[in-house]
Amino acid sequence: MVDLHAKVGSLPKVGPALTQRLAKLGINTVFDLINHFPSRYQDLTKVVLISELLPDQTNLISPQIWQIKNIRTRSGKFLTLGKVADSSGVIDVVWFNQPFITRTLKEGLKVNLWGKVDKFNNKDAFISPEYEVLTTAKQSTGTLHTQRIVPIYPETYKLSSKWLRLIISDVLAQNPLFEEFLPENIIQAENLVGIGTAYQQIHFPNSFESLSLAKTRLSFDELFILEGRALLYKQEWKNKARTNPLKIGEQPLKNFIKSFPFELTSSQKRVLAEIRSDLAKEISMNRLLEGDVGSGKTAVASIACYITYTNNRKSIFMAPTEILALQHYQTLKNLLEPKGLKISLVTGSRKPDKKGEYDIYIGTHALLQEKMNYSLIGLVVIDEQHRFGVEQRAILGTKTETPHILTMTATPIPRTLALTLYGDLDISIIDELPKNRLRIKTYVVPKEKRLGAYQFIRKEVGMGHQAFIICPFIEPSESLQTVKSATLEYDRLKTGVFPDLKLALLHGRQKSKEKEEILKDFRGKLYDILVSTPVVEVGIDIPSATVMLIETADRFGLSGLHQLRGRVGRGDQQSYCLLFTDSSSPRVLSRLNLLSKHYSGIKLSEEDLRLRGPGEVFGTAQHGLIDLKIAQMSDLQTIEKTKLWISKLVSEDPSLQSWPSLYNRITNQKDISPN
Ligand code: ADP
Ligand code: MG
Repeated sequence: MVDLHAKVGSLPKVGPALTQRLAKLGINTVFDLINHFPSRYQDLTKVVLISELLPDQTNLISPQIWQIKNIRTRSGKFLTLGKVADSSGVIDVVWFNQPFITRTLKEGLKVNLWGKVDKFNNKDAFISPEYEVLTTAKQSTGTLHTQRIVPIYPETYKLSSKWLRLIISDVLAQNPLFEEFLPENIIQAENLVGIGTAYQQIHFPNSFESLSLAKTRLSFDELFILEGRALLYKQEWKNKARTNPLKIGEQPLKNFIKSFPFELTSSQKRVLAEIRSDLAKEISMNRLLEGDVGSGKTAVASIACYITYTNNRKSIFMAPTEILALQHYQTLKNLLEPKGLKISLVTGSRKPDKKGEYDIYIGTHALLQEKMNYSLIGLVVIDEQHRFGVEQRAILGTKTETPHILTMTATPIPRTLALTLYGDLDISIIDELPKNRLRIKTYVVPKEKRLGAYQFIRKEVGMGHQAFIICPFIEPSESLQTVKSATLEYDRLKTGVFPDLKLALLHGRQKSKEKEEILKDFRGKLYDILVSTPVVEVGIDIPSATVMLIETADRFGLSGLHQLRGRVGRGDQQSYCLLFTDSSSPRVLSRLNLLSKHYSGIKLSEEDLRLRGPGEVFGTAQHGLIDLKIAQMSDLQTIEKTKLWISKLVSEDPSLQSWPSLYNRITNQKDISPN
């Protein structure tokens, strides 16, 4: 019997190379493998007779092979020519350049062929159909790739659906023992199918009804575990995280905010009140501040830093990239230095001043690596990061005071959802943009309109505006190759397209000082166009930038594009996002066109998951996404139900001792999060 905890490499058909590819999808154990769910299904249940075939329709036939052979054409290409027959008639079959097919398909075999009839040499023929041999074994256990509801898996890292079907069906055929971790009364009350049935049917459904039941069950599981995890964590936090209350009077707070160059929106005022009340408690704050890009989260965080300062405590402000750290540094300097606060910037390329005494430390992960003197930390702000993880918690060390924690995210999710998915955090939402903002007009630009788009940028620059040009996406990380291509693109634009304009180049391999200088000068309008790798992904704030041009937009996830788009439209001018693609595939174009229709981050990230599957989305989109494998973020009903059940269990049995297998699923981090 197959052991679900075994490594995938222990399966007979999975060698070292495939083990590696699977690992890239976060699939290490057999259990991970069967939790790799199909992204969609194809209904290939209906078999037709050869005599019923109509041109231009895709059909499944189930004939016997009469003849099959490879021939070489005059141009040296291979043709595989066959003749197949069923009780109703005979038809020719042709495959191009797949001579290996004759190793599998032999005369006399019964096969399923799925494809279209078209003319070949003036005769009707089945052209390049997909095939599955009907061995005697298959005739009893059922087919995998045809004559059923066929699972289609997100195809990434060179793992084909056909291959995944094969190994997953091997595992399931051995009837692995699934531990039923949900209490029986919940299964009964919610009419859920058993866990074993759910896994069988999600991969190889007998019908669309049983598929739907399997989805319901597995979505329930996923949300239930997610919420259980959050609940246990929150409980632990409230029990352990004691701190020094941070208070500020009404008048000093007002005086401080009055020094801002704008008035707070009513959303900002509301979330500030929530944060202020948390800070005044003895239990450390653990709050998520959510708001779309540019909604003014950083401004609110700076007020929290100020409150911390007036209580003789220090703040740490963590950003995901150096550029953002620099920007926050500038912003907080402007707002807080006049009030006497001392601010230090700590990034990988900028050695911190370890002796100095500062009120706020702003930086990247380097904040954790440098041995800074973090005494009396009252507040930790984390920008655009999923969680205050184990690693980050290390800075809290053994201190008796747990700092207040404010996590910020630009992924816009509805409150009910946020409460569930970030159930361990309290939530504050900024749900309006400052009044002067306009919606960013978004267009997908095909190859032939490239010049027109450049003309458009020229016109915008003529009006005193600025543009970002994001270079071809090569690899998710800022590799040398990405930098090289950005440099080439910069040279091409500078000499060939915009010789009369002022261009600057920005990428992750530049020295921090250099990047700082370039951004400062871009903000100061010394440049018209900033050519950049996708390092500017989150949070860059240049009010007079009105155009965001993104090359090879098809390589990005929709959420990633939404984030990039958020770099413009920060001032009061109409802004534009131009998505360049060389692809003419209708699928790609319609995916990109979703950005011209939707301005909601939640909508876009849901679509992304649906269209590209979790592997792709999480491979490239990085921050802020919620990694649901099967449950839908929009399934509020299941979210509510699972929330009620898990709360009930935890209130009866706070440490879930009477439910050991549930407890194990909940505390096994790897289970759900691929990161
Ligand atoms: P976020 O961190 O949510 O992306 P920021 O705090 O960086 O947003 O604010 C984006 C821009 O909007 C900044 O230029 C900031 O100065 C400005 N801003 C913030 N709050 C307001 C407001 N209430 N009215 C006008 N502009 C604001
Ligand atoms: Mg921001």
